[in-house]
Amino acid sequence: MKIRSIEAIPFRIPLKKATEWARGRQEAAEHVLVKLYTDEGVVGIAEAPPRPTIYGESIASIKFAIDEWLGPMVTGSDPFETEKMWDRFDSIAGNTTAKASIDIAVHDIQGKVLGTPCYKMLGSWTDKIQMAWCVNLNPLEGMVAEAQEMIRVYGFKTIKLKVGVAPDRDVEMVRAMRKELGDDIVLYVDANQGYDPFTALSALRRMADYGIILAEEPCPILDKKGRKMIAERLDMPLSGDESCVTPADVAREIELDCLRVVNIKTARTGFTLSEKIVHLCEQSQIKNLLGFQGDAGLGSLASAHFCAAHKNTSQYYASEASFFLWLLDDFLKEPIAVKDGWLELPHGPGLGVEIDERKLREFAMS
Ligand code: MG
Repeated sequence: MKIRSIEAIPFRIPLKKATEWARGRQEAAEHVLVKLYTDEGVVGIAEAPPRPTIYGESIASIKFAIDEWLGPMVTGSDPFETEKMWDRFDSIAGNTTAKASIDIAVHDIQGKVLGTPCYKMLGSWTDKIQMAWCVNLNPLEGMVAEAQEMIRVYGFKTIKLKVGVAPDRDVEMVRAMRKELGDDIVLYVDANQGYDPFTALSALRRMADYGIILAEEPCPILDKKGRKMIAERLDMPLSGDESCVTPADVAREIELDCLRVVNIKTARTGFTLSEKIVHLCEQSQIKNLLGFQGDAGLGSLASAHFCAAHKNTSQYYASEASFFLWLLDDFLKEPIAVKDGWLELPHGPGLGVEIDERKLREFAMS
């Protein structure tokens, strides 16, 4: 079997409500659908969600990279030869999300050929994962109301809170969340590098009073001494996200010894590089948390497959593969199964989902 051609289709699905964090804002999922066609009729699919403020990619750059550089590197190759594929990808710098989407589409093909769901193919630790809901920056009452609604409607037990803009306001928000949501809800925070190290230390110490279990990227990732200082003085694990984009980043962070948790996003490391990160982390007793990149249904499901496949990604922290619930609609034929805060993986081969082509035409950007 050979990959015959590749297609990159930009699409736009509006969100139920605009979402905001310390370094960005979003009103719709404007992403790229990747379709990989084989000469035997099997089609692999994946989603590429650009994050210009973090990785410098856009819809246009992803489409260009796939059409002009990465697509020709996989066309004519065996979809099982991922080592050779990444060896060729390594000849081009960056384009993290574009590369990851092709990697996931290739695994979708492999699963379909083998008649096996991706989560089974990759390790099969479980077939359902607990989900976390991420509440973005908004006026305080709105944030509390959003968390309450998502807990009530979908049964979330873990809530992630975006902080990192105004420490007093952030501490007050965390206090209000704990008071309104009760002691049974797990809370953690993500500052997206928004504080300076001393502000971070003081704000996180105050937040710790309200039972925060971890803090993600409290200060600028280039401030290594600042991060080390926070890690040594704070009685709470730090989680790496923007500091851990590639396996090489994670290897460097393990040396630096600030992190007890590393966030994995399959949107930026696909399945192949995400596995390398899991292996690195396991050897250092660092836990993984499956993050999100604002993925629609297809990208969220890819994350969920990877999460369910591994003990280190699914056993310790809830996964953030829940952003699809914030979209007004989607182009998947079957809705993703969510029950009492758990996502149940589809049991079909590969990613286990099909695209509703009529709906895709509705969301495709010309
Ligand atoms: Mg983050």
